[in-house]
Amino acid sequence: MKKEAGQFQEMLESSSRIVGFTGAGVSTESGIADYRSQGGIWEKFQPVYLDEFIADEEKRRLEWSRKQALWASLKPARPGPAHRFFYHLHKTGRLSGLITQNIDGLHEKSGIPADQIVNLHGTSLEIICLDCGDTQPADGFMDHLDLSAPCPVCERCGGLLKSNTISFGQSLNGEDLSRAEQLACNCDLFIAAGSTLVVQPAATYPLMAQQSGATLVIITLSDTPLDHLADLVINQPLGEFLSGFIDR
Ligand SMILES: [Zn+2]
Repeated sequence: MKKEAGQFQEMLESSSRIVGFTGAGVSTESGIADYRSQGGIWEKFQPVYLDEFIADEEKRRLEWSRKQALWASLKPARPGPAHRFFYHLHKTGRLSGLITQNIDGLHEKSGIPADQIVNLHGTSLEIICLDCGDTQPADGFMDHLDLSAPCPVCERCGGLLKSNTISFGQSLNGEDLSRAEQLACNCDLFIAAGSTLVVQPAATYPLMAQQSGATLVIITLSDTPLDHLADLVINQPLGEFLSGFIDR
């Protein structure tokens, strides 16, 4: 462990364009259940596909009730040590950007500016109109959401409102994908933390970074399919490991 920590410290010190890539593992330490895991929120509510959401008020109600349950755990959640680590890199001017698979908004809450974050699967912090694309903060909106009334529509155009996260059957945002690719191909150190690196296209970014000449570090408890390409693999609890590199 000491040797790995020393190697990681050297990599941090010799890098100036660092990109972070985070998955569910960084959020479970903030008390947010991995919603894919057993007993997770996907088991209590059947998934609603985007076309069903658009077509059927009852499906919309089901989806909003799932979002309401999720919001109850997201709203009080605070950034954990891994979030603080990436914020520390930002504050010291070494973070080019952060790509995340998480929808909980904890990197924004840690203090990293929203324009430096690519939320591959969207964000729970925003509500979007499916017609005009207008967005508003989820905070406030979710607190007043009344599911005994008709599902909410846009005040500007009457279009359907939805949490600005990627639904089942919804394509990822093309602009976000190209921003993530730009970041991955132009960094000198790519740190993948708390992701199993199996979901596509997310798992291609560490590969792009590595092929563009960046140093690749993977920090996660389980093995990943990209471990053999990494310059350093750390199989330790994230927060415990990363908190040692804040304010050194
Ligand atoms: Zn609208």
